[in-house]
Amino acid sequence: MLTTVEATHAIKQAMSPFDSEIVPLGSAMGRVLRQPVNAERDQPPFDRVMMDGIALRFADFDGGQRKFAIQSRQHAGDTAHTLEAGKCIEIMTGACLPEGADCIVPVERITVSDGAAEIEAGYNADLRQHVHGRGSDHTGGTQLLRPGTRIAPADIAIIASAGLPEIEVSRLPTVRVISTGNELIAPGKPIEAHQIRESNGPAVIAMLNQHGYDDCQHDHLADDVVILENRIAQHLDEADVLVLSGGVSMGKADFVPQVLKKLGVEVKFHKISQRPGKPMWFGIGPRKQAVFALPGNPVSTLVCCRHYVIPALANASGASPGNPEFAALAQDVAFRPKLSCFLPTRLVSNAAGTLLALPVHTNTSGDFASLTGTDGYVELALEDTFFETGTTVPLHRW
Ligand code: AMP
Ligand code: MG
Repeated sequence: MLTTVEATHAIKQAMSPFDSEIVPLGSAMGRVLRQPVNAERDQPPFDRVMMDGIALRFADFDGGQRKFAIQSRQHAGDTAHTLEAGKCIEIMTGACLPEGADCIVPVERITVSDGAAEIEAGYNADLRQHVHGRGSDHTGGTQLLRPGTRIAPADIAIIASAGLPEIEVSRLPTVRVISTGNELIAPGKPIEAHQIRESNGPAVIAMLNQHGYDDCQHDHLADDVVILENRIAQHLDEADVLVLSGGVSMGKADFVPQVLKKLGVEVKFHKISQRPGKPMWFGIGPRKQAVFALPGNPVSTLVCCRHYVIPALANASGASPGNPEFAALAQDVAFRPKLSCFLPTRLVSNAAGTLLALPVHTNTSGDFASLTGTDGYVELALEDTFFETGTTVPLHRW
């Protein structure tokens, strides 16, 4: 049986990177960048005026002049005017600094009459004030984004400012989410006393969507070897990633591992020393498809999906790993079995700025209703059985 860390490593080793594709800028949000983005030009590309007002020569102001004839008006997008000595140019935010000007006085500090601007008494100006100097943010050619960046709104601005209408990102995998179990009935269908609502499928798809994986379809299969073989074979043909739930434990109808094996999916591991989710199974299909078979108990399914499937997809997308997060336990926790414990928690921060994990008790790994309002889960190390209040533990947000 692998540890949680060994299982993560085994998945990472076994999966191949997803291909890349070119997408328009408008579709790039949340995707993983697969090319560097370099500055097209200096930023700002010219000495940029930062206030509406007048542009003048600092030497004139420094020499005592306070009233300036208005020579012209220059807006953002106009080519630079050339300032004559002793005069000023009305200037707007975003315009380039006129030739010969080196000082901006804001409009709030001047009075305009008879074609001249007069600066208020006692006003103090500095050389190059309110000028955002050419190249002062970065120079042309500077690398602004690295491959592996998950594209956020600010990155969209960077890509646009680099002049790129489209960009190379990781292709989104085609994912099939397969719920197994004779007892499962979809919402909206009549249900009998001995049956269970099918909730894992929609929840797993929701989690995948939340992390940006949109190309997901669901199938529900009975615990029947022939049906499982036929349908899973088809899904293996059509998808890059399979996420199954149920049918991987020791029950007489837990056919998933044997069916996957028969279909040529090479098992990488079966079982991880963790609770919930101990029976988890992982393998690689004949076309290098990643096959995650998660235990069916809803808490196990969601925790295993978040802990293994989501990071594996991010890694195969080439995403740079994020910084690990930690929280301090807000109460003592005793956990007896020699297994890593994934403990759902709410998060609060105290006045000292420490993130506190408030464990939420689940009544067995079937009790998914207690997960509502939780922010994620903490991982308690397999070596220990008692965790004191204040212990710092790894945190994984949903
Ligand atoms: P299994 O892993 O197939 O042994 O299932 C363990 C428990 O989880 C059983 O009580 C199942 O009824 C329940 N379960 C399995 N799959 C689902 C599902 N898709 N939605 C809700 N509950 C499920
Ligand atoms: Mg089952």
